[in-house]
Amino acid sequence: MRSEIMRRTIKMAAFSALAMIITCLGGCGDSNDGSGAYLDEPFFVTATVETDSIPNGGDAADDLCIWIHPTDLSKSLIVGTDKRGGIGVYDLSGREIQYRADGKMNNVDIRYNFPLGGDDVALVTATNLGEDTIAIYTINTATGELEPVAVGVIDTGISVYGLCMYHSPISGKYYSFVTSTNGTVQQWELFDNGSGLVDASLERTFDVGSGAEGCVADDEAALLYVGEENDAIWRYGAEPGDGEERLLVDRTGNHFMSDVEGLTIYYAGKAGGYLIASSQGNSTFVIYERDGTNEYVTTFAIEAENDIDAVSTTDGIDVVNIFLNDDFPEGVFVAQDNNNSKGEHQNFKLVPWESIANSANPPLVIDLSWDPRLVGS
Ligand code: CA
Ligand code: CA
Ligand code: CA
Ligand code: CA
Repeated sequence: MRSEIMRRTIKMAAFSALAMIITCLGGCGDSNDGSGAYLDEPFFVTATVETDSIPNGGDAADDLCIWIHPTDLSKSLIVGTDKRGGIGVYDLSGREIQYRADGKMNNVDIRYNFPLGGDDVALVTATNLGEDTIAIYTINTATGELEPVAVGVIDTGISVYGLCMYHSPISGKYYSFVTSTNGTVQQWELFDNGSGLVDASLERTFDVGSGAEGCVADDEAALLYVGEENDAIWRYGAEPGDGEERLLVDRTGNHFMSDVEGLTIYYAGKAGGYLIASSQGNSTFVIYERDGTNEYVTTFAIEAENDIDAVSTTDGIDVVNIFLNDDFPEGVFVAQDNNNSKGEHQNFKLVPWESIANSANPPLVIDLSWDPRLVGS
C-alpha cells in the first residue's frame, strides 16, 4: 500500500516536471509557468489584435505603455520593451514601426505635457536592466518614433527592475519610480536641465521588503501601488515626503498568484475605476476598486480565438479608456504574452476595453471622460 502511494507520488512528480519543461519550451524566465489553478473563476475575453513579435527570443518582452496621439487618435501607439535588447514601437494594427537596440529595457511608462525646451512633450521612461539606468525618450509626433532625451546616463546605483511614472497633482512635478530586485524603491524627479534635455534627481528611497517589479501611480489620488512580486500588492503615498506608511491591497494566494507583475489603472471619473494586476502565476488579470481600500472586484483571462492565441504568464499590462479607432472605440487593454503561437518570439495582445467590461458580471464601468493627455496640461 505504502509503496503504491510512493510510486504514484514519484509518477506525479515526474509528470509535473515534464509538464513544466513542456510549458517552458517557449522560454520561461519567470518563477511561474502559468499553469496554476484559478483562485477565483475568471471570465474570458479574446484579443482582437496582436503586435509583431519582438526581435529577441526567449523571455524577452516585458512591459508596455500606450501613447495617445495628440490629434489623430487612430495613430496612437504601443511602446513595448525587449529585456534582451531594446524597445519597440507598434501601431494599433500591431505593426512594428520602430525598434531601438538600446539595451535590456524591462519596464516602461509615459506621461504627457512634460515641459522640455519650451515645448510640452510626451515623456517615456524605461528601466535598463543591463546598466541599472533609467532611459528617457520623447515621441516624435510626426514619425511616431522614440527619440532619446536624457542629459546623460541616469545611474540608479541599484539593481533596477520595474518602473512607473507619476505626475503630482500637488506640485505639478514629474517622477519615475524605480523598483529593484532586493525591494528598494526609488523616486526620481525628472526635469529639464535648461538646454532641452531631461535630468533626474533622487528624491526618496524606501524598502518594500523583497523583490519588487510592477508599479503604477494614481495621478489624481497621489498614490503609488507596488508589487512585491512573491508576496503582495502595497499602496503608498506617491509624494516624495510620504514616507513608508502603507496599505496592504492583496496577498499572493488570495486573489492573485505570484508573481504579481504588471499593474495599471483604469480611470473612471473622480476616484472611480479600477486597479488591474497581472496574476502571472495563474495567467489571469485581477481587478480591484480604485477607490476606498481597493476591494476585489473580479478576475478575467484572455483565451484564444481565430488566429490569435491565448495570453499566459503575463508580465506588463496597460489600459486606456478613450476612443482610439473603430477597433477600440472605448479604449484598449494590452498585455504581454509569454508564449506566442507558432513558436514565434513573444509579443503583446490587444483587447477592446468594452469586451472586458461587458463580459464581467455585473458589467464593469465604461467611462471615456479621463484623458491622460490632459495630465500636466
Ligand atoms: Ca516573462
Ligand atoms: Ca517578475
Ligand atoms: Ca499565447
Ligand atoms: Ca516582468
